[in-house]
Amino acid sequence: MSNSHQLKRVDFIFRNENDWKKVLSSTLKRKPAELINELISSELKGRGGAGFPTGLKWKLTSEEKSEEKYIICNADEGEPGTFKDREILSKVPCKVLTAMAVCGHVIGAKKGFIYLRGEYKYLEPELKKAIDEFEYYCKEIDFDFSISIFMGSGAYICGEETALLESMEGRRGEPRNKPPFPSQHGYLGKPTVVNNVETLVHAFTIFKYGAKKFYDLGVQYSRGTKLFSVSGDTPKPGIYELELGMSLQDFVYEFGDGDTKAVQVGGASGFLVPRKKFKDAAIGFKGKLTGISLPTGGSMMLFNSSRSMFNVLDNYLEFFSEESCGQCTPCRVGCQQLLLGIKAVKRGDKPAAYLDKLMRLTETMQLTAKCGLGQSVANSFSSIVENFREEMIY
Ligand code: SF4
Repeated sequence: MSNSHQLKRVDFIFRNENDWKKVLSSTLKRKPAELINELISSELKGRGGAGFPTGLKWKLTSEEKSEEKYIICNADEGEPGTFKDREILSKVPCKVLTAMAVCGHVIGAKKGFIYLRGEYKYLEPELKKAIDEFEYYCKEIDFDFSISIFMGSGAYICGEETALLESMEGRRGEPRNKPPFPSQHGYLGKPTVVNNVETLVHAFTIFKYGAKKFYDLGVQYSRGTKLFSVSGDTPKPGIYELELGMSLQDFVYEFGDGDTKAVQVGGASGFLVPRKKFKDAAIGFKGKLTGISLPTGGSMMLFNSSRSMFNVLDNYLEFFSEESCGQCTPCRVGCQQLLLGIKAVKRGDKPAAYLDKLMRLTETMQLTAKCGLGQSVANSFSSIVENFREEMIY
């Protein structure tokens, strides 16, 4: 792992909530093109998991010709094992609101929305208070920008940006065909930036401290810090801001209980890494680190030797079968067949070789499912079956 570095804790996100007014008023004095360049040079990538360059997203939306544009903060945090956006919105909401307003200034939008996960309804009153204070200050500095909360209804798929837009427009939350992308044809058909909560809070850090400070953290192609939700068999469950690019071995050394047999990186749609591969795996954007590179929206679940990997996979497949929106056949039928299939092998009703057929089914799903949900089932399925095959069999 030549390109990874040691685990290092950082504290930008939860530090000093009270300076947002200063950051907002000074940043709004800067030209949109200058702010886009600052974001691009920081190499900030979306922290929801997909990793699209944030500066480029803002630039593309700013270049669209339209009287009306929107900025949406995606707070539909539903990946199993992820609970960091909830903390950001509870502890430093005005940093997120500030970044939304700066985005509005850059792309030419006067209206922002926070799409809040249905299960986070209890956050709404405090968030509304923060928005009121924020809008009051915007009026004081003569900046025309307002923010509303849109409550989600508990569907995991609405974390996908186009399903989120469908739901906001009053339809079933189902992913749209892309292109066109939301930067061209987003909310109500208007150019729209959809950014994850954590992405916005990093944008705040960059506008406050400058792109270089952010860029100097992390490793090549995986710059800056990331919030991790650490759960499972760990003596230190919680939320930690760490530099990107650390090796999984260092992560387990810090957070494991001494008996960690596997880590699920990136939630149910991510990858399960067995102990023998910890030293070759680094946390960062795919294909850029040497060895195995693991992107993650932040979920890190540790499993020790008391855990059955069959039960873990069974649990993930139940989840996917439940949350598949049903729009496309490979995912709607595939998730059910995978679930029935592993249960049949475990009962002894199907031979162990049937697992290979199921692996081929996940490859088909990866190629033909319409969105990330169906495409990513293969990640956890293949990484668990390949590495813990003996636990899958009767
Ligand atoms: Fe819906 Fe699954 Fe198809 Fe995505 S892959 S559109 S969640 S059925």
